[in-house]
Order: sequence, then structure tokens, then C-alpha cells
Amino acid sequence: MLQDADQVTHGAARFGAGLRHDVGAAVRQLGAKRALVLSTPAQCDTALETAADLGELAAGIFAKALMHAPVEVTRDALLYAVDLKADCLVAVGGGSTTGLSKALAYRTGLPQVVIPTTYAGSEATPILGQTENGLKTTLSDPRGTPEIILYDPELVQGLPLDMTVTSGLNAMAHATEALYAPNRTADTDRRARLGLQAFADGLPKLITDPRNLEARLETQRGAWECGCLLGEVGMALHHKLCHTLGGSFGLPHAETHAIILPHAIAYNARSAARQLQPILDVFGGANAGAALHSFVCDIGAPLALKDLGLRNRDLAKAARLATQAPYPNPHPITETESLRLLQAAWAGDAPAF
Ligand code: NAD
Repeated sequence: MLQDADQVTHGAARFGAGLRHDVGAAVRQLGAKRALVLSTPAQCDTALETAADLGELAAGIFAKALMHAPVEVTRDALLYAVDLKADCLVAVGGGSTTGLSKALAYRTGLPQVVIPTTYAGSEATPILGQTENGLKTTLSDPRGTPEIILYDPELVQGLPLDMTVTSGLNAMAHATEALYAPNRTADTDRRARLGLQAFADGLPKLITDPRNLEARLETQRGAWECGCLLGEVGMALHHKLCHTLGGSFGLPHAETHAIILPHAIAYNARSAARQLQPILDVFGGANAGAALHSFVCDIGAPLALKDLGLRNRDLAKAARLATQAPYPNPHPITETESLRLLQAAWAGDAPAF
């Protein structure tokens, strides 16, 4: 039951309520007959439903995906995939499950169908992040890009409100940094604005009515726009800080993005006010960082890194690590100013710049 106009709107990405039940058609479209279904342990029931939808096309389920794709988990999944003679991967979940799928596709060349259940956007990029011995590395490879993405708003209807907010802000961070990327184009600017507008409109609706199917679809479309930008243009200080805090201090992915975003944008607005104008057009206000801070306060997002378990004495180390090999950034990055930024984000204060 693919939905008419929503059927195929962005190449491999399809949007529509109930679309997850068409996973069998997607697998057949890939010429595959033995799908390995992937999920996190928490979403095992969803994986079971997906396997039921696949019927005889389901070869097995591997429900052990973890955040940041640890290579030991990938190795186990790889052995299982070989054992099952799997000829395609079906990932149902957020960025962690998609990460496992990409790690397997990278190693085997198996085609992928991804059914996202968060707004992280990993499904829209060729980027693979994985961890080995506690060290996170990323690479970009076309084998990582899923062949088919099925966005079903019914699957995100049950995404808890706190995760809806943080995951949405995670997506918005991709579009926001795309606005000042050195390799941005008029088209990436246009799509960044679309992605941001989708969350500016959709998230407040979901706060009052988390099961609003229209707002879920709207925000999924936003997640797709934002995710594509993450794969297409360079990211900067915001993503570097979040990768450092996640990779070296174990902070949770989406929450960290949600907290850092207004601070990093305020930092960069000093040199990129013109490029960040779409933020003001979408959210109002006179300063992009303040506008985003006001938005995150309105939607009840987490505000303080200290609430994620980061210790005050870790801030200096985080500032040092984040500035050692910085990504290209519109405003000069210094350790002193990065520390100021982190101190405000740690305390839950308004942006320091
Ligand atoms: P996640 O996939 O880790 O999910 C967090 C938790 O929420 C998990 O327990 C999951 O099972 C559960 N969950 C997911 N969807 C749910 C739903 N609809 N209802 C109830 N529970 C649900 O979280 P995430 O933020 O989507 O992904 C984070 C990971 O994705 C990180 O490892 C990050 O590095 C990666 N990522 C990669 C890229 C890329 O392009 N490579 C982009 C964004 C994120």
C-alpha cells in the first residue's frame, strides 16, 4: 500500500503512512530473497514485525545494534549474515541500527533497505562511524548509502517526546551547519531552509500531540533534507564538538547535539551572520544563536551538559581535543573560546557569544 504522491519523492526515499509493510516489495526490488533484519535490543519487537511483513523473504533477525557501531558487534552480525546466506539488509531503527547496516554493507556490498525510527538522518549519507577499542573513526564510502529508505510516520508516532525533541535538533544541526559550509550551493541553502522549517513547524505540534501523523511525516521529510546535507557538504565546529563529547566522553548522541547547537551557532554567527539569515527567517529574532536558544527552551530540550554526566573538570580536556584538528569553520577556533562555549553549555546558560 504505497501512498500515491508520497510514493517516491526523493530518489530512493519514500514517504507514507503504513509504508513499512511494503518492505517485501522493496527487498524484491533489490532482487534479493534472504533479508537479514537488524535492530537494537530495545526495538526487537519492531524487528519481529518487520520480519513478519517480509514473510519468506526474512532470513533472520540480528537485534544487537549498539550506538557508534562497535566493530565487535559488526563482526558477530557479519558471521550471522554469512551463515544465513543473507543477500540484503533491512535496518529498522535509529542511527545505531542504520550504522550497523552500513558497517555490514561496507564489508559485504549487500544492498540495504532502511526504515528509520528517529530523525538522525544517517540513512541519507554514505558516512559510516564505527568504534574500535573505544576510538571512533568515520569514513565515507558509496557502499554505505542505503538503496531504499522507507519513511513511515506511524513508526515514529511512538518515539518518546524527549527523543523526538533531541533527535529533531540533531537533524536541524546538519542543516544549520550546511548554511555556512564552504562547499554549500544555492540548492543546499534552499534545502537547509526546508529542513529547518519542517522542524520549526513540526516539533511544537508534536509537543502537544506526539501522535500527530501529519507532523510526524513533516518532520521525517525534514530529517531527510537535513540528513542529505550532512552527506553533501562539510560540517564544522558544532559537529566537531559533538563528536568529541560523544567519542571521548561517552555522551549520548542526540542529547549532546541538542545542547550544543545554540552555543556553536552563536559562536559562528559572529563571522557568518549573513549565511545564517535563514535561521532568523524561520525562527525570528536578531541573532541566530539566541533564536535557537529560545527555540530549544520553548520545546523543552535538555540545556546542560552537566545533566548528561559530564564533569566540570572534563571541559578543559574537551576544549583541547575539539580544537586539535578542527573542521573548517567560519569563525576562528581557539581553545579559550571553545572552553567558554562549553562552560555555558555545561551549566545550561544562554550562549556566551
Ligand atoms: P539510536 O539509534 O541510538 O536510538 C536510541 C535508542 O532509542 C535506542 O535504544 C533505540 O532502540 C531507541 N529508539 C529508536 N527509535 C525509537 C522509536 N521510534 N521508539 C522507541 N525507541 C526508539 O539513536 P539515534 O540518535 O537515531 O542514532 C545515534 C547514532 O547514529 C550514533 O551512533 C550516531 O553517531 C549515528 N549517526 C550517524 C550518522 C551518519 O551519517 N553516519 C548520522 C546521524 C547519526
